[in-house]
Amino acid sequence: MRLWRRPAPEPPASTRVTDGPVLEFTEVSLTYPGPLPVAALRSATFSVHRGEYVTIVGRSGSGKSTLLNIIGLLDRPTTGTYRLDGIDTGLLGDWQMAALRARRIGFVFQAFHLMPHRTAVENVSLAMLYTGARGAARLRAAHDALEKVGLGHRRDALPTQMSGGERQRVAIARALAAQPSLLLCDEPTGNLDTESADLVLHLIDELRKDGLTVLMITHDESVASRGDHTVRIVDGRLIDPRVVDRPAAVI
Ligand code: ADP
Ligand code: MG
Repeated sequence: MRLWRRPAPEPPASTRVTDGPVLEFTEVSLTYPGPLPVAALRSATFSVHRGEYVTIVGRSGSGKSTLLNIIGLLDRPTTGTYRLDGIDTGLLGDWQMAALRARRIGFVFQAFHLMPHRTAVENVSLAMLYTGARGAARLRAAHDALEKVGLGHRRDALPTQMSGGERQRVAIARALAAQPSLLLCDEPTGNLDTESADLVLHLIDELRKDGLTVLMITHDESVASRGDHTVRIVDGRLIDPRVVDRPAAVI
């Protein structure tokens, strides 16, 4: 007789939530404390809807990393409300934040952060440990994710045996394997030559066509222009062409 049962993994994002934005910021600010406080993000209001590809572009020091850390649930805003899949993240404890981050956000960074002594398929499947899926199911999902990024044939290669572009595609497969609500990319082509960068950007275009929600942070205008909507960040202020200040009522 089985007395113990493994907890059921959370169902894939597509079956969890159907309505409303994936991400919703309402007057979100972050001020770093210190003898001279820095207002790194100032009253940001914007949203990302399901299936959208939004890019955020800004110069060095404009607040991109600050914004990314809040969206990625790695830091909390000083004021304002951040909802992810309708969940008010301000109400969550640290452990709940970590669980939400692990399940709903797929990260792709400039540096690929792959484990050097693990094969491509191991890198992807190990990232799914928290889902509660069994080893065989994890391997299958990892293989499917590698197929999706065109690297099924390289599943047993080590990162050192792969090009930069291939490594970033493994990192994208890893981010996708648990079917996150949002793919959050931080300068994903920053370490790549032009040809590999084009391949990675093309892959993201294709994933987006399949319905993936993507938010990409970049300082590169040509990368930013690939999204279907671009938000600028200047000195901690978001400039979103979709958010128009309502004119005061005429009396
Ligand atoms: P970006 O990623 O666009 O280069 P950042 O979000 O890293 O910009 O930084 C935005 C502003 O906040 C900058 O003025 C930076 O100096 C400041 N800043 C970043 N991190 C900290 C911190 N931990 N403490 C104090 N100030 C910080
Ligand atoms: Mg930065």
